[in-house]
Amino acid sequence: MFDKVLIANRGEIALRVLRACKELGIATVAVHSTADSEAMHVKLADESVCIGPPPARESYLNIPSLLAACEITGADAVHPGYGFLSENARFAEILAEHGIGFIGPKAEHIRIMGDKIEAKRTAKRLGIPVVPGSEGGVSSYEEAMRVGREIGFPLLVKAAAGGGGRGMKVARDEASLSEALSSARAEAKAAFGDDAVYLERYLEKPRHIEIQIFGDGKGNAIHLGERDCSLQRRHQKVFEESPSPALNFEMRAQIGEVCANAMRELQYSGAGTIEFLYENGEFFFIEMNTRIQVEHPVTEMITGLDLVSEQIRIASGASLSIKQEDVQFNGHAIECRVNAEDPLTFAPSPGTIKYYFAPGGLGVRVDSAVYGGYRIPPHYDSLIGKLIVHGKTRNECMMRLKRALDEFVVDGVKTTLPLFRTLVRNADIQNGDYDIHWLERYLAEKT
Ligand code: ADP
Repeated sequence: MFDKVLIANRGEIALRVLRACKELGIATVAVHSTADSEAMHVKLADESVCIGPPPARESYLNIPSLLAACEITGADAVHPGYGFLSENARFAEILAEHGIGFIGPKAEHIRIMGDKIEAKRTAKRLGIPVVPGSEGGVSSYEEAMRVGREIGFPLLVKAAAGGGGRGMKVARDEASLSEALSSARAEAKAAFGDDAVYLERYLEKPRHIEIQIFGDGKGNAIHLGERDCSLQRRHQKVFEESPSPALNFEMRAQIGEVCANAMRELQYSGAGTIEFLYENGEFFFIEMNTRIQVEHPVTEMITGLDLVSEQIRIASGASLSIKQEDVQFNGHAIECRVNAEDPLTFAPSPGTIKYYFAPGGLGVRVDSAVYGGYRIPPHYDSLIGKLIVHGKTRNECMMRLKRALDEFVVDGVKTTLPLFRTLVRNADIQNGDYDIHWLERYLAEKT
């Protein structure tokens, strides 16, 4: 087992990793930018190192600074959290070259899955069903049109280097293909420095359902069921639940086994999520994330497993601590992402939190790193916390969520809490009757 872990992240996920380390008896090192010296993860860690000025590329993405921090503190492993360097294969390799453990999968798997074209090719080879689309990238309008005519419109033009919902444009018909192609390219170039794009059939009413998997790099792999993340705005998740209201026990076991088998064949190591769109009883792979995800607590609540501690154990060379037949799914869990944003326009609302009160009680978990008097810096993601509730049934879970949301107080900045308070009272949400476009439609009607 590692002696000391450096957490190369900030906010709630830095705290989440820190908690897992403490429970495993591992010493912790926090890193922070000058904008984060008052952050909770810095206060709670055993040691902390300032790694640069506020812009992420000069601090949280600054590999030489992170290496120096490992050197100074004698950390023997790094947990990257999500975002920042978590899916940077080169970072994993550099750490290995310095004899420092990377708490994540093998660099080659990060690399394959980071290129969405390569990822789709690999998924197909491993027997995972994929969305019909171009075989690889498309480089010209003529080629795109040929593929478009073959798979039919509407089409989605997607960036090979995509992430965060960027570089994605719909072409409703042949006439709009040229415009979709050039704007997806331009957006991809600006966001990722790579304008490679590919085409997929645009699914009209799918749900986003993802499977949590775990492997130990020795050919053992399990799945921990699904999360339904269909409530999205601009392709970004805002609310996640498990089990999915759209699946039954057999469907979960079936797609879960397909994913676990694929991971056994790949000899995948660590936590991963295989994301699908689900429509009319069919699953279509869209991408795989080779890291812990924001919504992982939903799975923890229904399985009773600590996913972050399992990541750390596996990275230190241990085998999976649990077999598939021992995984049990209990009750229902829902997560709401609380962002410091206007609940209608979603404009970021950084500033000082004047008063903070988090809900509690049976089945309620809040993963957050803010406190009364904390100043939210404007430089980073607007996620300030996650409210996760668990209940025996979906109905109990919804009632509990409603009362927990009503207890939650964050004064001084705008948050998305009021949006969730109206969503839990909506009949479609209560019935689990929503797809990936539901929230956008709902918001369009309200404004
Ligand atoms: P990113 O890496 O940018 O998050 P994904 O490929 O994971 O991109 O897709 C993000 C979201 O975009 C999905 O959850 C879904 O809402 C939408 N999306 C992606 N592919 C398709 C498709 N073929 N048809 C319809 N919607 C899609």
